[in-house]
Amino acid sequence: MFTINDNYLKLQGSYLFSNIAKKVAAYKEENPQANIIRLGIGDVTQPLAPVIIEALHKAVDEMGTPEGFHGYGPEQGYEFLRSAIAKNDYQARGCQIDADEIFVSDGAKCDVGNIQEIFGIDNKVAVCDPVYPVYVDTNVMAGRAGSFDQAIGGFNQLIYMPCTEENGFAPELPNEVPDMIYLCFPNNPTGAAITKDALQAWVDYANKNGSVILYDAAYEAYISEPGIPHSIYECEGARTCAIEMHSFSKNAGFTGLRLGYTVIPKELVCNGVSLHSLWNRRHGTKYNGAPYIVQRAGEAVYSEEGKKQLQAQVAYYMENARLIREGLADAGFTAYGGVNAPYIWLKTPDGLTSWEFFDKLLHEVQVVGTPGSGFGASGEGFFRLTAFGTKESTIEALARIRRL
Ligand code: PLP
Repeated sequence: MFTINDNYLKLQGSYLFSNIAKKVAAYKEENPQANIIRLGIGDVTQPLAPVIIEALHKAVDEMGTPEGFHGYGPEQGYEFLRSAIAKNDYQARGCQIDADEIFVSDGAKCDVGNIQEIFGIDNKVAVCDPVYPVYVDTNVMAGRAGSFDQAIGGFNQLIYMPCTEENGFAPELPNEVPDMIYLCFPNNPTGAAITKDALQAWVDYANKNGSVILYDAAYEAYISEPGIPHSIYECEGARTCAIEMHSFSKNAGFTGLRLGYTVIPKELVCNGVSLHSLWNRRHGTKYNGAPYIVQRAGEAVYSEEGKKQLQAQVAYYMENARLIREGLADAGFTAYGGVNAPYIWLKTPDGLTSWEFFDKLLHEVQVVGTPGSGFGASGEGFFRLTAFGTKESTIEALARIRRL
C-alpha cells in the first residue's frame, strides 16, 4: 500500500487564515445582518491602477493575433520584465544585480515556500517568532523541522528568534548558528523595519558562519523612513550569502493577478555549487513561467506613469496605517508598526490572549483582525490589523474599537 509524506501530519492545526475564515463564517451564519469589517488578511482592496489595466488590455489583444501570440515563455521570465526589475529595483539603488539573476514567478508565497527544496534536509533553520507561517510550514512539510513541542510552542529542530517589545521586534543573532535564516523586513506581522546597520550585521554573520539568508522583501514599497534598506543587496557582502524574494501583490495590487520574483546572485555558492544554477534547474523543471499578459502588466509597474499611480496607491494604504496607529493610541492601546509597513501590531488589552481579543472584536464590534499567536508563541498577547481596507471602513473600524 502507498504511504504518505507524514511530515504533513506534524503541521499545526489548519492554516491560520482558514481558522479565521471559519470563525467569521460561523458568526455570519448566526448574525446574517452583521456588517463585518475585515482588517485581518493582508489582501489589498484598491482596484488595479489604470496603467496596469491598459498594459493587460494591450497584451490580451496581442495574444489574439498571429504575430502577438505568446505560448510557453522562458521559465525564468521575459527579458523585458527581468531587465525592468534589475534596473529599477536594484541598479537604480546602487545594488549590483543583473537581469539574469532574477527569476520571475507567480508570487512570493510560492518562492518562499519552494526555495527550501534546494537545501539539504539536515540544515538548521532559523525563523523569527512571530513569523509569516509559510517559512515554518514548508520546512515542516519537507521534514526539516522535527516535531512540535508544546513546551516551546514550536518545532524542536527550528531555531526561533523571538521578536518582542523588549528587542523592538528585531531578532538577535542566534547563539546556535543556523544554516538557513529567514528574515522578512518590513515585517509581517509586526510591521517592524530593520536599519541598514542591523541588516549588515546579519549579512556579516551569515558570511562568517556559512549561513544563507532568505530575505523576504514583499513589503519593501511601504518603507517611508530614510536609513531603511529596500533590498538586502544594499549591504556589503550580501551577494555571497543572500537570496531575496519580492512580490507585486502589495506594491501594485497583484494579489489576484499573481506575480513575484526571486533574486539569486551568481556568487552565492555552497561547496563550489551555484545556488543560481540549482534554482534555475528547479524552476525550469517544475514551473512553466508566469503568464505573458501578467508579465506585461508587471513591466507597466516600472513605467513613469506606473510609478506615480502606484505610489499614490501605497500612500492611500499608509494613510490608513496612520489612522489606525493614531486611533489606537488615542483609545489607549499600545501599538507598533504602521510606519514602514501596512501592518499594525497591537498589544491586547487587559491580559486577553490573542484569540480572546479576536473573539471580542468579532462579537462585540464586528471587526476582524489576526491573532498574533497564530504567527508564533511570541505573538501571544498581540493582534495584527492591516491598512489594506478602504479608508471608510478603516475609520469605521476604529470608531467601533474605541467603543469597546
Ligand atoms: N511574503 C510575505 C511576508 C507576505 O506577507 C505575503 C503575503 O501576505 C507573501 C510573501 C505572499 O506574496 P504573494 O502574494 O506574492 O504570493
